[in-house]
Amino acid sequence: MLLPSLLGNESIKRAFSGPDGPDSACIILSGPRGSGKRTAAFDIAMGLLCTRSPAPCGRCGACIRMKAGSHPDYELFNPEGGEIKVDAVRALRARSFIRPSEAARKVFVINAADKMNPQSQNALLKVLEEPLSTVFILLCENSEALLQTVRSRSIHYRLQPLDAAQLCGILSQRFPQAGEAAVRQAAEDSGGYLGPAADILSGAQTETDALAGSFAAALGRDELSVFSCCMDASRLSRDDYAQFCDALCRRLAGLVRQGTPDPGLLLSLYEYVEKQKYQTAFNASVTALSGALAAFCGDNLKHSWRNT
Ligand SMILES: [Zn+2]
Repeated sequence: MLLPSLLGNESIKRAFSGPDGPDSACIILSGPRGSGKRTAAFDIAMGLLCTRSPAPCGRCGACIRMKAGSHPDYELFNPEGGEIKVDAVRALRARSFIRPSEAARKVFVINAADKMNPQSQNALLKVLEEPLSTVFILLCENSEALLQTVRSRSIHYRLQPLDAAQLCGILSQRFPQAGEAAVRQAAEDSGGYLGPAADILSGAQTETDALAGSFAAALGRDELSVFSCCMDASRLSRDDYAQFCDALCRRLAGLVRQGTPDPGLLLSLYEYVEKQKYQTAFNASVTALSGALAAFCGDNLKHSWRNT
């Protein structure tokens, strides 16, 4: 199977390169917002439903219906990415029992699968335990939020950042009016992911991304601004706080790559923020997390503030 629309991610493409794709009824695709999860899932679904070889051919009736959004054996579940209630999963389960209309199997893509609570995941688990002609593709930013029992029945692939040259090339084509320096900076600040980089260049940056940018810019320069960013972060919803952690990690990785006098400090902050993101999956309080982040910065970064 080919994944023609997915950029980069050669290791995932290699894993799917066999004639039948991977041998599992459940595939987890994880990665930050804008990393290509939906694109990869669409390619995989089209490959599984295509009637020719190598799949997807892009020209058979199944491929044409997929591109038109009208294939009867394909479903994108929870496209808006909200909370997934157990009743909705039960209804999805019931639909998975119905025979495919025209293909040999059905493909259900569950968007924001990390928004399933344990009850919802257990409902899904019941389907995964029975051999059916349905392939599930779970998309999530935080795979740690999935139950171990779900993960153990799945094959898990993480979307990887694009290399800087490839990302800059794509951005320059999409944003011809943006200067070379702006493109390079957006590629750097996005951590190598096309979605956030395009948001930065199109001015559609999310509030959480902008806040992570202010936080990173204040590091090592302005203690008060860091604390004020932590205050702003304390008002975010838990989901947005998780996105803030993601965006901040991307910025910190960028700062380390650019070269900093004390990368150890930034790396310890990176690990701390990553741990906080993990905690958001377990219902940690955003007020407590943002307060702890401010305290961590106060304790650990004072040294660099004093020297500047
Ligand atoms: Zn086809």
